[in-house]
Amino acid sequence: MNVAVLPTSLETAPQAADPLDHLTDVLFHRMGSEGVYARTALYEDVVERLAALISRHREPGTEVMRFPPVMSRAQLEKSGYLKSFPNLLGCVCGLHGTERDINAAVARFDAGGDWTSSLSPADLVLSPAACYPVYPIAASRGRLPAGGLRFDVAADCFRREPSRHLDRLQSFRMREYVCIGSPDNVAAFRERWMARAQGIAQDLGLSFRVDQASDPFFGRVGQIKAVSQKQQSLKFELLVPLRSEEQPTACMSFNYHRDHFGTTWNILDARGEPAHTGCVAFGMDRLAVAMFHVHGTDPLAWPARVREVLDIETPGTIDAHVEGWR
Ligand code: 5GP
Ligand code: ZN
Repeated sequence: MNVAVLPTSLETAPQAADPLDHLTDVLFHRMGSEGVYARTALYEDVVERLAALISRHREPGTEVMRFPPVMSRAQLEKSGYLKSFPNLLGCVCGLHGTERDINAAVARFDAGGDWTSSLSPADLVLSPAACYPVYPIAASRGRLPAGGLRFDVAADCFRREPSRHLDRLQSFRMREYVCIGSPDNVAAFRERWMARAQGIAQDLGLSFRVDQASDPFFGRVGQIKAVSQKQQSLKFELLVPLRSEEQPTACMSFNYHRDHFGTTWNILDARGEPAHTGCVAFGMDRLAVAMFHVHGTDPLAWPARVREVLDIETPGTIDAHVEGWR
């Protein structure tokens, strides 16, 4: 064995190339942290077109809400997030002391020391999924009408899992349709959306399969939760083979929470029973990355059918956007 050609440590070893790496410099600007990127006009234009496509499929009677990237820490705690994914949570913190305390922290930083030991948590966390804030809002409206309620929500989401892979961001956009109602309302909603979402993926020219899935629950107890989630068919994902068939990327998920949020927030369905809830989540950044990976980096050269559903060919729209693309 020729020892001289082996890297001396893992840190100096060149990182293995990933099949999505070719997109990084075309779609993003690095921002000094893994999984956090500035987006080019080319990329953002496609994200907007995907969002418009998803909006066109919105069911009548669906209420639209857009959430900021932060939400109430107390609400997320009450939702049980710390029991399931404590390792993924990003919490807002700040320098909350007196003027003297704050000056002392800054002075420590100026002297090359650590100012962060003076931080304390604020009442906000970074939203880890788009739908959490909608349940307490629905609860505040009293008993559900017959048929339940449907919402269209979106947020910039954060999950603390640094990765150099373009389909595993720390900060990414999530769009969701949410149903709050009776078990039947939610089951029918999820059925409809699992069919509709596959139609959307087909229209986008993506190859995919839909499969049972589980969330990455934390720790050993989490593994048991994941098995139970699968046994009860609570989660499905639409998987697109981006880096390989064996390790496909989940671009959408279809989730049934049973009465978890209904009980937590005391939401009652029309019969007075704890409401059931479900959501379909679209990973906007994963979908956009998938489009560029599968169809190439020039949207004007994408298949005609795909350009049509994304309205890339309507006279005027190209002119308006092409400046940013080239
Ligand atoms: P879920 O709540 O099912 O984990 O996430 C919903 C959707 O958000 C996923 O199907 C996926 O498309 C997107 N998503 C989840 N985690 C990430 C991530 O780390 N990076 C990106 N870009 N999207 C993600
Ligand atoms: Zn959700």
